[in-house]
Parts: sequence; C-alpha cells; structure tokens
Amino acid sequence: MLMLDVSYNHKSTERNKKMKPLMGFIFCCGTMFLMIDLGYKIIDLHAHFRDNIPFHTRLAKEAGIGTTLYMPNTKACLDNIKEIKKSLRIKRHIRAIPISAITIGRKGRKLVNVNTIKPNVIGFSDDGNCLTNLKLLAEILKKNVLIMAHLEPETEMAKKYLKVLSKVGGKLHLQHISKTSTINVIKRAKRFGLKFTSETCPHYFTYSSEIEDKPVNPPLGTLKDVKAVKEALKDGIIDCIASDYAPIPRPKGTGFASFESFISLSYGLVLQKVLTHKQLKAKFHDNPLKIIRP
Ligand SMILES: [Zn+2]
Repeated sequence: MLMLDVSYNHKSTERNKKMKPLMGFIFCCGTMFLMIDLGYKIIDLHAHFRDNIPFHTRLAKEAGIGTTLYMPNTKACLDNIKEIKKSLRIKRHIRAIPISAITIGRKGRKLVNVNTIKPNVIGFSDDGNCLTNLKLLAEILKKNVLIMAHLEPETEMAKKYLKVLSKVGGKLHLQHISKTSTINVIKRAKRFGLKFTSETCPHYFTYSSEIEDKPVNPPLGTLKDVKAVKEALKDGIIDCIASDYAPIPRPKGTGFASFESFISLSYGLVLQKVLTHKQLKAKFHDNPLKIIRP
C-alpha cells in the first residue's frame, strides 16, 4: 500500500525564503510515508470541529496547519454571542477562529445579531445550508463583513449571489467550488471587475463522480469538472484550497476530508506540475491571509 503523509517543520526559517520543501521517505510496516516540510504554516479557511475543538485542533497542528476557521454547525449553533464566547474559551492548539452563522440556526429566516457578534469572529456562513433569501444576503453584505457562501445549486446560486454583490458591494467568499459551469460564472464576473474570492477542496480536484461514490456536499463533479477545477487553481480563478475537514462521525452528505489528505492531495498538484510551489503557497497561505485580514 502506498500512502502519502505530509508533515511540516515550521522552524526552518532559512529554507522558508527559498520555498523548497524538504522531502523524504520513511518505510514503516510496509507503508511508505512522504514527509514534506513546506516551511510555512497553512491557513485553512474551512473546517468543522463539531464538539471537540481541542482534539481536532491538535490534529490540525500535527498536520502543519497554523490557523483554521471553523464553521458554526457545532452542537449548539454559533449564532449568538453567548455560544461564540463560550466556544472561544475552549482550549485549542492552533489559532482557531469561529465563523458565525448568517441566520439563526442556519435556517435562512432571520439574520443573527451581526453588530454584536462581529468583533469575535472572522466572518459569517450558513455552511451546509444555502441562504436562498437574497434580501437577507444583501442586508448582511451591506454591513461589510466577510460572508462565506455555501451555494446550492452551486452555479445557479453563484450567479444570484454575484448579482447581489454587484449591486450592494461587500466582502464575499464562495466556498467549495466544484463545477465547470460555476468556474465560468466566476471567470466572467472577475473579467467584469467584480471583487470576491473563492475556494475549492482537495476532493474536487482529485475524485470524480464517474469513479467515486462519495456522499459530499456539494457532490463530486465529473472528470471534466476535476480538470476545470485544477485549471482554475492554476489560472488564479480559484484563490484558495481549504480542507472542509469533516471528522467522523459525520452526518450524511458532508465532506470526507482529513487534514492529512488535504495537504498531501494539494501537494500532489505540485508533483503533477499543475501548480508551482509559489502558487501552492498562495492557495494555502497568502490568499487566505488576505481574506481573513480585517
Ligand atoms: Zn463545510
């Protein structure tokens, strides 16, 4: 069995400047591990920590992640200041910053108290559910807070969200992009000068629906979509790679990512010569940093 495992050592500052990863192989019990030291800490814009922040942030730290944003669909939804502050008091092993829900209970009916919550979070998302009420979307975009959007159906809602953005402005980030048609929408909007960002996740440039039968949301694309996602990363149409880390046990229809596959599959893009080391650093670190900076 061949298995890729990617480990990072953040102390090698001399090498950071050159951005050449240290690579080595370790054989253990018939398994080959590829060890990679990229020399920078990853900023993962999209993870789910469920109800165990200490455990999952420890795994993230071991994988080489420095900062993670975690989505609000924890046991008690992060849709009010009390729960968000409670969450922030829990021990964590990396910089882990909560994302608030956009609407109460992520139900799409009533906006959370944005002004009260804003200083304690990086942004707002109903991830897992798509906010279809575009009036509420416009209302929260006008407050100029970062909105991380779960789009479903992806292409149709991307068009609608970008139309709203073009009218009211704001800070919009499109989550887990997986389809050629959505990439075309993003391309056109960027050509018109609209400012927004987007991410994809490793499963969307690795697995296709023809070969894999994985229940993820959004669903896996076709082989054509996998190719389009890779090209969009290469051409800078998609800005970031996020994990959508969804630990087991996970509800049906959520991600199958782990932090290890997040990093090793993304590094595979460098090995396939889809991305350069510099471009991978942009997707893993530089662009996410620009998005989370106030
Ligand atoms: Zn998610």
